[in-house]
Amino acid sequence: MEEIKIRILLVEDEPKVSSFIKLGLEEVGYWVETADDGNVGKQLFDRRSYDLVILDVMLPGISGIELCKQIRKSDDKIPVLMLTALGTSLDKLKGFDAGADDYLLKPFEFGELMARIKALLKRTKAGEKALRVLKFMDLEMHLDSYEVKRGETRIELSQKEFGLLEYLMRNKGKVVTRAEIAENVWNNAFDSGTNIIDVYVNFLRKKIDKDFEPKLIKTQVGVGYILKE
Ligand code: CA
Repeated sequence: MEEIKIRILLVEDEPKVSSFIKLGLEEVGYWVETADDGNVGKQLFDRRSYDLVILDVMLPGISGIELCKQIRKSDDKIPVLMLTALGTSLDKLKGFDAGADDYLLKPFEFGELMARIKALLKRTKAGEKALRVLKFMDLEMHLDSYEVKRGETRIELSQKEFGLLEYLMRNKGKVVTRAEIAENVWNNAFDSGTNIIDVYVNFLRKKIDKDFEPKLIKTQVGVGYILKE
């Protein structure tokens, strides 16, 4: 079964630095989404779920420091690594107490960045064990063992059904559009004219909703789907 990729949000306005980091991280198997503006970064953070955030300090829109503070308001666990230009005093930066977990001075070697990322992911892994189990009502997903249960009933899902349910669970209570599902679960790897998403939502409903009450997957007509009581 395909491993679920570590998802990283990179907010960096210098194109060269951004593509250097993105390409390097993709090469080692991470999934990277980029924004070149603090506000865009915030929007992405609110809409999607990530395992780690890399923030440049000086950004158009809102600064990396402000963005980090806002991220901390909604998520006090996600690891945040700040990138700072040479000349910025680290002590001064830490004085802002934005809530970042680590700081890296530019310019840096890619190996150094990787070491910091791995350390952050490892450090949060213990705390993340709880996050590796997603729960909604009596529905439970164990991301490590690929176990899905509704109440005491074990449910077998295919890989795509599992990915789709994970995406819905991570966005529970929020409507997700077909385009968002296509991008996040299928990596846009099909012609958008097909109804493959609706087909898979129906597969999923047969398995997690058909024999249970209440039904959890709701259709938002003309928009998409939502996991809701
Ligand atoms: Ca910058």
